[in-house]
Amino acid sequence: MRGWNFSAGPAAIPQEVIKEVQEELLEYNSSGASIIEIGHRTDIYSQVAEESKNDLIEILKIPNSHEVLFLQGGATHQFSMIPLNFRNMGNNADYVVSGTWSKKAADEASKLIDVNISASSENMSFSVFPKCSDWDISKHSSYVHYCPNETIQGIAMHEIPKIDKPLMADMTSVILSQPLDVSKFDLIYAGAQKNIGPAGLTIVIISKELMEKGDSSLPKILRYSEHSKANSMLNTPPTFSWYFAGKVFKWIKRSGGLDYFEALNKKKAEKLYDFIDSSDFYVNNLQKSQRSLMNVTFNLKNDDLNSSFLDESKANSLLNLKGHALVGGMRASIYNAMPEEGVTKLIQFMSEFESKYG
Ligand SMILES: *Cc1c(COP(=O)(O)O)cnc(C)c1O
Repeated sequence: MRGWNFSAGPAAIPQEVIKEVQEELLEYNSSGASIIEIGHRTDIYSQVAEESKNDLIEILKIPNSHEVLFLQGGATHQFSMIPLNFRNMGNNADYVVSGTWSKKAADEASKLIDVNISASSENMSFSVFPKCSDWDISKHSSYVHYCPNETIQGIAMHEIPKIDKPLMADMTSVILSQPLDVSKFDLIYAGAQKNIGPAGLTIVIISKELMEKGDSSLPKILRYSEHSKANSMLNTPPTFSWYFAGKVFKWIKRSGGLDYFEALNKKKAEKLYDFIDSSDFYVNNLQKSQRSLMNVTFNLKNDDLNSSFLDESKANSLLNLKGHALVGGMRASIYNAMPEEGVTKLIQFMSEFESKYG
């Protein structure tokens, strides 16, 4: 039996989408073969790929100024692909360090480009998100990189920074959770396995103008502009994940688009944070305005109860609530695929657990 899956990633996928994929897995659309057995350059697959891309463009209202790429290597590969492509544009690059993922991005970039840490909350254990007005942007940097939703700490920046430089964002754990003004960014990237679909696919949304300025001496496979020229089929793409993501995009569309998910996601997160704040048993110390709507981190005031909490939640079909090993405690990831009912069930359980042990 499928449980309520709070995994941070790979994360829950809507059951109706999994069923749809299951139904057509043996034979895709009278082709005589499964979608995973068809060449990526066939008419039948090209249509799947194009439709998936067009649906994403429609959902996110991606302007014509931007290209959408379906790549591999995960978000982590972007940590090096970005500096490789754009280090020729300036003396250094600005990185805002607000949690584990943006720190990793900065560390990896520093092997390829001179990195200026524009702001960092590391000495406060990432308990606050550095205020945009305090970011120290260098004069001759190539770009500014930040991560608006830190999946591990559960801390987020909800406003888009106003910066007069190419702005790049790791949106792995927040993309498609709400409408987004894509035009404000020069590059957005996201590993698919949080809020898009199965692992193996990385979405990159990139300003076409910027893309052309990338270092032309790089091997093709590392250049955004080459991927674009080849329609993301420079080599065999992750065909199953690309197709699967297309099914999720259709689900988003028929559910009511990103306005629908924004309202739903706010409602789910508010419910859960309100419950945590009202209890003396659970705690989340982040400022309300900086709390993630996707990854709700919390601690039990008595750490000794952690393993009982995890055992008993699992017995109640509430899965994968263990926080990341770096920060401990608990984390409930409530991406688009988590229905409100799952959050209600979690709160019910947390309340009963509190009555039993509090
Ligand atoms: C999960 C995650 C990553 C790592 O993604 P991979 O696809 O495994 O490389 C990077 N950044 C953020 C914000 C994440 O949530």
